[in-house]
Amino acid sequence: MIHALKPGARSPSATEFFRSGSKKGVSMQCNKCGSENTQRLQVAFEGGTQDISATSHTAGVGSIGGKLGLSGAVTKTSGTQQSVLAQKAAPPPKAPLKPGVGLIVFGLIMMSFVGGFWFVTFGLASIAGGGYMIFKAQQFNSKEWPALYQRWLESWLCHKCGHIYHHA
Ligand SMILES: [Zn+2]
Repeated sequence: MIHALKPGARSPSATEFFRSGSKKGVSMQCNKCGSENTQRLQVAFEGGTQDISATSHTAGVGSIGGKLGLSGAVTKTSGTQQSVLAQKAAPPPKAPLKPGVGLIVFGLIMMSFVGGFWFVTFGLASIAGGGYMIFKAQQFNSKEWPALYQRWLESWLCHKCGHIYHHA
């Protein structure tokens, strides 16, 4: 229904705003379906649930520049769309440090509260393993994650077909 309408005549929206602020000033068309109803992942995500709902509303109102007739349907579907969209738009997660910390704590408990040769050995191994996990996680966070995050910053979400694509 909504999507069959021709893009371009849409009323100003967040999408429009950020698009006009883009360096290249080119139209951010979805490279899969060609729709202009796209949004930066960051925008979709940072807007939070409410904005995502508003976004889908904008998408619904979209092309005809009027709000009649379509808002009802949009409101109905926004509940389920929110979580999916929020999930899709989420930035790449950093490697968690908690598992490593947990393992170290576990090892310390083994050593100091349980005691005995095998528990101490097992505890030391846990601590070493936890330390290694933290090391690897921090390495990932400092070396690989920034690139993934940058990629995320340059990623766009198509509200028509749900395709996520890269456009720096
Ligand atoms: Zn698309």
